Amino acid sequence: SRRCSIFDFTDSHDSRFSEKGILFRDFMPVFADARGMQILIDALIKALPVDADQFDSIAGLEARGFLFGPAMAARLNKGFIAIRKAGKLPPPVHSCSYALEYGTATLEIEDCAVKPGERVLIVDDLIATGGSAAAACDLIKSVGGEIAGYSFVMELDGLNGRKALGDYPTSSLLQMP
Ligand code: IMP
Repeated sequence: SRRCSIFDFTDSHDSRFSEKGILFRDFMPVFADARGMQILIDALIKALPVDADQFDSIAGLEARGFLFGPAMAARLNKGFIAIRKAGKLPPPVHSCSYALEYGTATLEIEDCAVKPGERVLIVDDLIATGGSAAAACDLIKSVGGEIAGYSFVMELDGLNGRKALGDYPTSSLLQMP
């Protein structure tokens, strides 16, 4: 049978995914399992870092934030905002470059993505250094939105990623060393 628990993620040492001894944690099989998907969305909503009436929309980071962000948003009757890798969104866009655990990256958002003062919850599968989430925060603010908080599935404790996020309310379902 399919693995459907987020505890059953794969620890990959494949060099295409992991460098310098950094593990790549993958819980993609959860999405292939109907019950796994329900459990994950339920858990994310139960663990929200703020009440659902404290935000207007959910912004997800490409690519894994696109797997469950829209499902959370639909359940909560909110809209979904895409934060994508460079070159994917039609201009005009705002860009933000930052250092990753391995390499550098650029994220983008469409200029028209949020209404002035819209309160946005940022979601992603995993927070490591916090660089991606912090870039997403800058992007939302640069197009006129406000940050309501962050919701992650996993958090790598050792990297202190929360420090990069400032004081915004933050939740994660799993804390890993
Ligand atoms: P950060 O910017 O260092 O916090 O890294 C988080 C981003 O990199 C997220 O978008 C994750 O999807 C991705 N990432 C980093 N490490 C892993 C991992 O072990 N498994 C899955 N994604 C990871």
